[in-house]
Amino acid sequence: MKVLVVGGAGYIGSHMVKQLARQGHDVVVLDNLSTGFRSLARYGKLVVGDLADTNLLEQLFQQYTFDGVMHFAAASLVGESVQQPGKYYRNNVSNTLNLLEVMVRHGTRHFIFSSTAATFGEPEYVPIDEAHAQTPINPYGASKLMVERILQDFYNAHGLNSVCLRYFNACGGDPEGDIGECHDPETHLIPIILQAASGRRSHITVFGRDYATEDGTCVRDYIHVEDLCSAHALALHALNAQQLKGALAYNLGNGLGYSVQQVISAVQKVVAEDGKEVIVEEGQRRPGDPATLVADATLAKEALDWRPQYADLETIIRHAWAWEKKVVLSAE
Ligand code: UDP
Repeated sequence: MKVLVVGGAGYIGSHMVKQLARQGHDVVVLDNLSTGFRSLARYGKLVVGDLADTNLLEQLFQQYTFDGVMHFAAASLVGESVQQPGKYYRNNVSNTLNLLEVMVRHGTRHFIFSSTAATFGEPEYVPIDEAHAQTPINPYGASKLMVERILQDFYNAHGLNSVCLRYFNACGGDPEGDIGECHDPETHLIPIILQAASGRRSHITVFGRDYATEDGTCVRDYIHVEDLCSAHALALHALNAQQLKGALAYNLGNGLGYSVQQVISAVQKVVAEDGKEVIVEEGQRRPGDPATLVADATLAKEALDWRPQYADLETIIRHAWAWEKKVVLSAE
């Protein structure tokens, strides 16, 4: 297949590009490199450009006939989305519309969209299944939900088939150690703990120990980036084989919750093998963090025949730690 991966130089997109290339697909990456890295996109053919550039999109779709499009390019910081909602609605909604419209003009009918658990807002129950109400509590979640709704309308009007995959906590890195997570600023728990272990930061601050969970710290569903990507590949195959049709949406997680403290302890165990330790400090709650977010991914498993391979937290941490050591070594 010939696949366009928008945002293929970013964290999840780059793992997707590598996985598709390994499966023998021909991958074109479109990325504006605002948060991505040229080197991470090296398993595809990189076109540097922005979804706001409708002329570029038109040229790209004239040059290639894509069997499917995967869209990972988005601004994804919850706090920033509250401060700068315009950036989120422009990047995540209006730029996505440009992409959908060029697809419709050129008859490209298969679209896989990176959505998020943030579309659900404060959970009414866990594990969260697809029937859960979607009432996002920040512009980031709202921007992703708007695209989910747009996709429903584009299916009804234009027959554009789509699968929205709502990620819980993406983590881990390429099992071969070639690519991994590189956010600046880094806000995610596992890479921050690993940076505290490698010496790139002095410590990790636990954002609150007074939640209604077993140990008082927040519980999340950590899902390996390779497993996220395998769900995307299966979704694209199912659309192409016409096994799936419509505007569909599935939650992606392991269905296992780990607390912040459990993650810290698991990292401490892994990095101790390299003689490293993690200094832990106590902090206030971070605004907008629900106590527990865990996915019910039954539907994705059934509809896509998806089987996560790396559900084990220690494996996730080992892959991410291998990448962190590589980044630190290459900076020396
Ligand atoms: N967290 C923390 N310290 C940090 C970063 C994150 O205690 O430096 C907590 C955060 O409050 C949340 C969990 O770790 O409960 C996962 O946060 P992350 O930002 O990785 O993902 P989110 O669940 O917000 O998408």
